[in-house]
Amino acid sequence: MLITNIQRFSLHDGPGIRTTVFLKGCNLRCPWCANPENLSFQKEEYVKDGIKGIYGYEISGEELEKEILKDKIYYEDGGGVTFSGGEALLAFKELEPLLKKLKEDKINICVETALMVKNELLEIALNYVDLFIIDIKILDDSYSKEIIGGKVQLYKDNIDRVFKANKKFIFRIPLIKPYTCNEANLNEIYSLIQQYPPEKLEIFKVHRLAENKYKSLNKKMIEIQEEVTEQDMKKIKKDIEKFAINVDICKL
Ligand code: SF4
Repeated sequence: MLITNIQRFSLHDGPGIRTTVFLKGCNLRCPWCANPENLSFQKEEYVKDGIKGIYGYEISGEELEKEILKDKIYYEDGGGVTFSGGEALLAFKELEPLLKKLKEDKINICVETALMVKNELLEIALNYVDLFIIDIKILDDSYSKEIIGGKVQLYKDNIDRVFKANKKFIFRIPLIKPYTCNEANLNEIYSLIQQYPPEKLEIFKVHRLAENKYKSLNKKMIEIQEEVTEQDMKKIKKDIEKFAINVDICKL
């Protein structure tokens, strides 16, 4: 497996204290992506402050298991491991033996996903994952294909499978104008979350903290054309809470 980082003591990637593993490679291209170093499926050279380095390193399932189990003592309050990315589900075939072992060790498993993946990968996840943290991005099919390169019907079919499998899931909405944060898209989102009520929903404003990572890869991060305001966030939270869904405004 190719990963870029193992982040310990993570508090924002699921319940409790978690070890978050960032898998390298994504099938989408959200222009606001905060993890540009995780998009390519290959190792990548970067230059930071004149010093060269490589994003990505190979790790075996056994080595990764050892790294995760080092933190087991901190998982008692409901914590565990979270697989993130990139699109973490794309690595689930290779990860399956490890997922099996983690389950035998009673480690709670979360995955952060955009859920636009083939059915066979989701099927593996449904066997092992305790909590899905699912992004909601653009729900108009042609706009989604144009902007992020993802098929909305595939996404909706996958949500339906997670829901029907009685799995716990949280929705997470990155708010950025005009892509995800516009009236038509928000209305689509409100319909979706009423059909598939999550454990809770998290909204966050897209930030520019990844700018240096883009620079290190000699890429440019998109300009934010119009800021999502605190007022916008409060209104969206209030609108969603009308459906009896808990909303957290997150600072990711
Ligand atoms: S799905 Fe996530 S990792 Fe992939 S491009 Fe979009 S924001 Fe980045």
